[in-house]
Amino acid sequence: MKEMAEVGELATFKLPTGHHIPALGLGTWKSEPNKCREAVYAAVVEAGYRHIDCADKYGNQEEVGEALKAAMETGIARQDLFVTSKLWCADLDPMKVKQALEKTLHELQLEYLDLYLIHWPVHTTVDASRPPSKDQVLPLDLNSVWREMEKLVEEKLVRDIGVCNFTVPKLEVLLKTTTIKPAVNQVEMHPGWRNDKILDFCKRHHIHVTAYSPLGSQATDELHDPTVTQIAEKIRKTPGQVLIRWAIQRGVSAIPKSSSPHRIKENMQVFDWKLAAEDFETLSSFQNQKRVQDGYILFINPEEGPLRSLEEFWDGEI
Ligand code: NDP
Repeated sequence: MKEMAEVGELATFKLPTGHHIPALGLGTWKSEPNKCREAVYAAVVEAGYRHIDCADKYGNQEEVGEALKAAMETGIARQDLFVTSKLWCADLDPMKVKQALEKTLHELQLEYLDLYLIHWPVHTTVDASRPPSKDQVLPLDLNSVWREMEKLVEEKLVRDIGVCNFTVPKLEVLLKTTTIKPAVNQVEMHPGWRNDKILDFCKRHHIHVTAYSPLGSQATDELHDPTVTQIAEKIRKTPGQVLIRWAIQRGVSAIPKSSSPHRIKENMQVFDWKLAAEDFETLSSFQNQKRVQDGYILFINPEEGPLRSLEEFWDGEI
């Protein structure tokens, strides 16, 4: 089921539902105002991307929607696109799930999403500060929220549902009661944070993994890591291409963000070559493993709680 298949010119992975998720998508977090539209259009129309990863929280879905509309006006069919968005923490309330999706569909000018993900497994107030005070982190009734997500599938407003940033214990809780299993767990993944434990669990439970921050999100400077650059020079690819190819060869889809039409095209050139086994192994053996997107600033309040440490938040997967 994790077999990578060529569909047209673009490699895809098969989800448990039988739908296909493109192996490469465009990330849109921090895609700058007035640049995001051009980036998405360039990705879809000029570079051949079919997957765009969005989120309500990124604040730029209207620009993505305008770009997708313009792209479809050039003749690209909606069914050939794969659009992902995410339910933000303040909407992790069964009463808010559908209205949050409707807002996202309105902004994106779409009738349905291909994939709708729970953004983080934390329920907060709308006005949560960073870090949130004790009262700004609310109880999470995950099963009821998931049931509302399932209803969105039944109503054909979304084709697949999934999660982000879920640990093994959190997935185990979710899997106990779901009617529709999560199709995807979108998690941080690059050679400096391989996330082996979650990848192994997801593979065994037929949950597709999407690698976010596949280039290290700038913070790790993985694009300038000597090991990555040496491999890139040796095989005449760019560091970005090497990192993206590493992710895809692990059997996960990757969603690098770029606002540069040039780098958007560069990042797509990863389907007609492979990393040799020894280079793949080297990239899979970085000693220093560290999360970049650890959620600390968003969710941890060591003095007041309720989440007092990263250890607790990530269920020890840190
Ligand atoms: P990435 O690892 O994709 O890195 C993005 C950075 O790399 C940008 O600064 C970009 O700059 C630069 N870049 C892109 N391509 C190249 C290249 N070929 N050579 C050199 N530099 C390059 O980081 P993100 O953290 O943005 O992760 C990607 C996406 O994952 C997000 O945009 C978002 O969609 C998703 N995500 C999901 C999360 C979740 O909780 N579910 C959390 C974090 C991310 P430039 O734009 O100038 O090219």
